[in-house]
Amino acid sequence: MIKDTNCSDVILDKEGQTINLAGWVHKRRDHGGLVFIDLRDNSGIVQVVFDQGISEKSYLDAQTLRPEWVVSIKGKVMPRPAGTENTRIPSGMCEVHCSELEVLNESKTPPFEISDDSDNTDEQIRLRYRYLDLRKSAMHQNIILRHNVVKHIREFLSQKGFMEIETPILIKSTPEGARDFVVPSRMNPGTFYALPQSPQQLKQLLMVSGFEKYFQIARCFRDEDLRGDRQLEHTQLDIEMSFVNEDDVMTLIKDLYTEIIENVVDNRTIVGSFPKLSYDDVMDKYGTDKPDLRFGLELINLTEIAKTSSAHVLTNPINEGGIAKALMIPGLNKYSRRQLDDLVAFVKTRGGKGLMYIGISEELSTIDNLTIEDIRSSVSKILTIDEIKSIIDFTNASPGSLILIMADSSKVVNTCMSQLRNEIAEREELFDKSEMAFAFITNFPVFEWDDDMNNWQPSHHLFTSPLEKDWDLLDTSPGDMRARHYDLVCNGMELASGSIRIHSREKLEKILDFLGYDDESKIERFGQLLEALEYGAPPHGGIAPGIDRLITLLTDNAESIRDVIAFPKTQSGSDPLFGTPSLIPKEQLEELHIMISEID
Ligand code: ASP
Repeated sequence: MIKDTNCSDVILDKEGQTINLAGWVHKRRDHGGLVFIDLRDNSGIVQVVFDQGISEKSYLDAQTLRPEWVVSIKGKVMPRPAGTENTRIPSGMCEVHCSELEVLNESKTPPFEISDDSDNTDEQIRLRYRYLDLRKSAMHQNIILRHNVVKHIREFLSQKGFMEIETPILIKSTPEGARDFVVPSRMNPGTFYALPQSPQQLKQLLMVSGFEKYFQIARCFRDEDLRGDRQLEHTQLDIEMSFVNEDDVMTLIKDLYTEIIENVVDNRTIVGSFPKLSYDDVMDKYGTDKPDLRFGLELINLTEIAKTSSAHVLTNPINEGGIAKALMIPGLNKYSRRQLDDLVAFVKTRGGKGLMYIGISEELSTIDNLTIEDIRSSVSKILTIDEIKSIIDFTNASPGSLILIMADSSKVVNTCMSQLRNEIAEREELFDKSEMAFAFITNFPVFEWDDDMNNWQPSHHLFTSPLEKDWDLLDTSPGDMRARHYDLVCNGMELASGSIRIHSREKLEKILDFLGYDDESKIERFGQLLEALEYGAPPHGGIAPGIDRLITLLTDNAESIRDVIAFPKTQSGSDPLFGTPSLIPKEQLEELHIMISEID
């Protein structure tokens, strides 16, 4: 055997033993008469010493070693001399005195240093040489963590009686709000498979098959513009259960996440107890359905007060159906004019027309003595002192506080103010990065109005059941219908979405009719599910937590989900390592009966 011990397992218990190691030369240092290398393998690093007195040949060969060469080493485990221990690595109390060295393979000089400190390397280059990038300790640890989390998930769910069942990748469109990736069929010319945007219909069919508790670590493919931290393919823990209600699914997920965080990582603490918050409530208080609950700083609805103001900047948007909201931040009147301008600019780049502010002097002893001199405000000329006072009263501001106000359409106000809230919390370090504040968001609307398409779209997906009592609203006020839909959010991110499903054909058809599917497209796209629902489909529901985002949240170093995926794509959907997407040979196109039209 080339290797019998991992680098990180070289500990004092093994003192005096002769072991065989193998790995990569991480660093080499020559100290007249002695050569040291840090040897790296999957487990970590150990120091190896080449001493002329132990083996002349190894000592001489060691002088030729270069970073990233692959070597095997036979040697004796010894304690490091006092004062040279390294407490930051598991093997740091020991070193290995080499008696035999073999070079297993040489390496070209890598395009970047294999070190966590070389993070400023251009991402294109990192992805072009991803196999080297993954050698870095931080990246390596992320992938190991991912394995541990997934292993835990499998064990947890298996113990609870879930079955892991694979579903096909070559299938048919399942709408999840994105475009499909399609694959041409050679055997059936002119026809296509679609890669699953999620195994939604398949897992529902498995419930009709009587499996009752299904899960899968499922790859989902969504052809969408890569806004922010997204990938064209992502991994989700796909879950479906029969004979459950919303609480059953949420409890399972709460237990699963708690178990993972308590057992797999030691750098995270759960704060709060997974509260269930209604969509309307969080939209009002935080302006978003993915609130970061690690800090307070709730938005204050000022619409009622602003309505009667003398200032058009407040009344105009409200008269047009908009709203006014404020953020009151104690102590933030310390911000300089420049910092305030910065916040105004922040809002403007997110679609806001402007941001008003009212700062209250910290010198003021009590709010009751407030005069116009105690105010620093962008609106002091357009609001009366009484109006300013009523805003201060309403927001409960104290001396030293800063009040930020926006009036606009509810969409713009909520988008800008929710992001501003996060931005201020980040700048002011209002939370501890190790905290995880989970919450379930419930009572979502069934449909959202889509301005671009000028029609109603499902907020989750069309298989989601409305609340039983809301079915009557479908014909009269669909926007008021509430869904049996729940999301899991954490630290301002959506981690999972799920719902109790419609399990009657008649009802699912009602939704499809409402969304404008004609009889033919209903059958063409959903015929298999509609039919199955007629053969004794049990009531069922499920959820699908994203794995990539969860791992990103659990690591200290991942800046994007790309840092927890072994071979991710760039923001433009390409893979610089394989050079994909790429052209395919003409013969292959012909075989598939595909012609490429002019591309401009
Ligand atoms: N299929 C859904 C999704 O991918 C999750 C679910 O409803 O279970 O978001």
